[in-house]
Amino acid sequence: MTNVLDGNAVGDRIREELRGCIDTLDGEGVTPGLATVLMSEDPASETYVSMKQRACEDLGIESIHREIDPDAPAEELFETVESLNDDPEVHGILVQMPVPDHVDKRTVLRSIDPEKDVDGFHPENVGRLVAGDARFKPCTPHGIQKLLEAADVDTEGKEAVVVGRSDIVGKPMANLLIQKAPGGNATTTVCHSRTDDLGAKTREADIVVAAAGYPELVDGSMIAEGATVIDVGVNRVDADNEKGYELVGDVEFESAKERAEVITPVPGGVGPMTITMLLYNTVKAAGIQADVPVDLP
Ligand code: NDP
Repeated sequence: MTNVLDGNAVGDRIREELRGCIDTLDGEGVTPGLATVLMSEDPASETYVSMKQRACEDLGIESIHREIDPDAPAEELFETVESLNDDPEVHGILVQMPVPDHVDKRTVLRSIDPEKDVDGFHPENVGRLVAGDARFKPCTPHGIQKLLEAADVDTEGKEAVVVGRSDIVGKPMANLLIQKAPGGNATTTVCHSRTDDLGAKTREADIVVAAAGYPELVDGSMIAEGATVIDVGVNRVDADNEKGYELVGDVEFESAKERAEVITPVPGGVGPMTITMLLYNTVKAAGIQADVPVDLP
């Protein structure tokens, strides 16, 4: 029987455990606060931000929201981030990507106070992650680590293949897998669009993490018998239904499930974990800034 991991259930368990941390902070008069900044009218970005706000409110995290006209000068965004950096009620800041073309994304990431950078994308936090001294692990790869742990998938000594080398998923995932630490110690290969014969690489893997943003790129023939398959992809493809589309992952679920021992579905696998780990990082940030020790799950 293939173990189909339930990201909602694992995420809910971690969120329940975070409530205990929030109670500890509350006892010291601290309410964790997450600020979301949106400079876009893209419906998907609006949806992501409102999902994050709702998740905060459900857990008792204060949600602060700033919207900036996408045509406004970049300076307006930087001033907003600066005021949030200075606001003691705000412990975490998230600027929803993508920002408009006239705003330099790297400058945005650098403008956030590293102690409030709950996405973990500021170069200081990236450096700390690589050096094995992470402050905030990026939410999606951290969520995957937690999913693997919940499913008792030991990464130590395993062959792992990460498909994708983005700064938000592929690279930090590979960095976590190679750390000399629990959830790491895997022999890790990173594949990308220039990789020759992707299937030859993935077939060698005990653990495949697919984060390419390419619908059903990895099928059953590319998976070793008994492998663990983590599907990060969320792709909209045309479908003959009311909405006119459906969401599929980067893995062809049905054929991969025939061979995998452990697999994540889309939706309901990695997605809920990403938001959970954002809440986790916000609670952690509040503990650091208020100097209150919290026992994180
Ligand atoms: P990016 O587009 O930033 O990166 C995609 C990576 O995949 C690139 O490194 C690219 O290679 C590589 N790639 C693309 N096509 C192929 C291919 N045919 N073979 C091998 N490698 C390929 O995407 P993200 O990392 O931001 O996201 C990946 C997917 O995960 C998307 O579907 C996204 O929606 C989803 N996602 C889901 C989250 C969740 O919580 N569930 C969170 C974040 C992302 P190259 O570098 O050479 O271009």
